[in-house]
Amino acid sequence: MSRTPVPAAKTRPLRIAGTAWNLTPLFERDDDPRMERKRRIVERKSYEFINAWRDRSDYLEDPAILRQALDQYELWKRLYGSDGDEGYYFWLRTQQDQNDPKLKARFNKIEEFSKKIENDIQFFHLRIARIKPEAQRNFLEYGGLAKYRHFLERIFAESRFHLSEPEEKILNLKSATSYANWTKMTSGFLSKEERTVVTEEGVKKARPFSEIVGLMNSKNKRTRDSAVGAFNNVLEKHVETAEAELNSVLQNKKIDDELRNTPRPDTLRHLADDIESGVVDTLVDSVAARFDIPARYYALKARLLKVPRLAYHERNAEYGVVAKRYPYPQAANLVYTVMNKLDSQFGAIFAGFSNNGQIDALPKKGKDSGAFCIHHLMTQPTYILLNHSGKLHDVLTIAHELGHGINNELIREKQHALDFGTPTSTAEVASTFMEDFVLDEILHTADDELRLAIMMQKLNDDVSSIFRQVACYRFEQELHGSFRAKGYLSKEEIGKLFQKHMAAYMGKAVLQSPGSENWWVYWSHIRYFFYVYSYASGLLISKSLQNSVKQDPAFIVKVKEFLSAGLSDSPMNIFAKLGIDITDKQFWDRGLDEIEKLLNDTEALAKKLGKIKK
Ligand SMILES: [Zn+2]
Repeated sequence: MSRTPVPAAKTRPLRIAGTAWNLTPLFERDDDPRMERKRRIVERKSYEFINAWRDRSDYLEDPAILRQALDQYELWKRLYGSDGDEGYYFWLRTQQDQNDPKLKARFNKIEEFSKKIENDIQFFHLRIARIKPEAQRNFLEYGGLAKYRHFLERIFAESRFHLSEPEEKILNLKSATSYANWTKMTSGFLSKEERTVVTEEGVKKARPFSEIVGLMNSKNKRTRDSAVGAFNNVLEKHVETAEAELNSVLQNKKIDDELRNTPRPDTLRHLADDIESGVVDTLVDSVAARFDIPARYYALKARLLKVPRLAYHERNAEYGVVAKRYPYPQAANLVYTVMNKLDSQFGAIFAGFSNNGQIDALPKKGKDSGAFCIHHLMTQPTYILLNHSGKLHDVLTIAHELGHGINNELIREKQHALDFGTPTSTAEVASTFMEDFVLDEILHTADDELRLAIMMQKLNDDVSSIFRQVACYRFEQELHGSFRAKGYLSKEEIGKLFQKHMAAYMGKAVLQSPGSENWWVYWSHIRYFFYVYSYASGLLISKSLQNSVKQDPAFIVKVKEFLSAGLSDSPMNIFAKLGIDITDKQFWDRGLDEIEKLLNDTEALAKKLGKIKK
């Protein structure tokens, strides 16, 4: 963790023109008379494209004609899409006021309008996907299509595993009964449960399952112990059902993979995320080789909390109190100063968002309670929603969402509308990059007690997002592998596998407490297959880049190149063009070194403060 001071005096303070969205670039108000007219234009432009290409097939044979079609398609996506300004406007309005049924109704109506256009225009994508593999190379090598090369590569890569149209239709029709209904059943049974627990206020009360999950992280030991008792009791009750469910889910996946002839259970996930399997393998192996880091972290936490070992559910128990408050103008200025220091364009983008009413910063009645950064058409402004209440976490949230916003603006500058976006595997690079630099600045000015509390929380987040997710990924790999070898897995076998992989990253300081062998019953991510690596990939790429920037501030130029690449190529190729090889273990190790350094600093600080013995 860098301790380079940020010279706050050099940057002019951020002007905060307002803390609410200005939606007038879209519409003046909910009954803006231009709405109807603009909707007709979207319709006309969409059907101009549909009618021009629906009955033609020459663009599937002649690359020069496909170029014409893609140019028109790109322009449509850039300016109109299927819902124009109206869809974006009313979606944003429903986030500002979730309780107004009139807004919901307006949004639903434009959704319906847009669904019809989407159904009518999807032929274009589907037919490109059906271009025969022998002919695909002609298209990819044609110079005139260079601009759309990766767009086509993405479509072709997935289409390799497509079945015939009628087969796809059958799989699609049967997917609810063979997959979704099963997983819904288990989560439905759990969510209906209720148990009596000791609340934060110290009284016994019946609480719903969803609340019991949260109470397991309570600072109050009696509350969290009673919550985990209730939680384990619920899982125990449904573990037989979950065994049947998970075996069906695993079998259904096996059948799909065999029909599609995929080489590995995780192939389709990697394709969808535009990441090579080799890159994910290197990431997973690199992280697993450093499982000593989380083990050391939990050992430190146990010592700080003065217990010999942590119970399984106590691994997230908080250490220390972070009481300092940051009002919005102060928090925004802190983030702004850090951005500006990293790169003046980052600061300028933040100032622009702030001046143009693109940030809705404060909590309001009816407003969505989370935080997000959203973009829609390339020609429409980015909007950020926050609920700033002044906690440290809220400051990091500004940095996080602003990271997404900066990412959007950089892509907008360099790419066309079909490459405007980020693949899942790297979607969180910019956000966590900004977050960590802001945290560095906060740590720089905090006193030692506060620093220790913040550093422990930060390590907890990093351990959960990187090491725990990679352990889960390896659990999934072994789960699918064992199922395919044995044909059925009992709840005991699943529980054993689960505990093996959890113990592997938690180390000896965390007990695999009785009852925790059933926690897979509740883990919904494993039902979506191999998705969890993306938490680790985004964060570690971000940390590896941070490491390089700390050693050489000029490296930020490469970071910006990467962030502006959007969907124009796979992350591996984008990095390769910048001279960085992400199939090399060293790249991932640079990110892991950052976490180890934070852990070393935290241990040293705990010793300095006399919280633990040498
Ligand atoms: Zn994010």
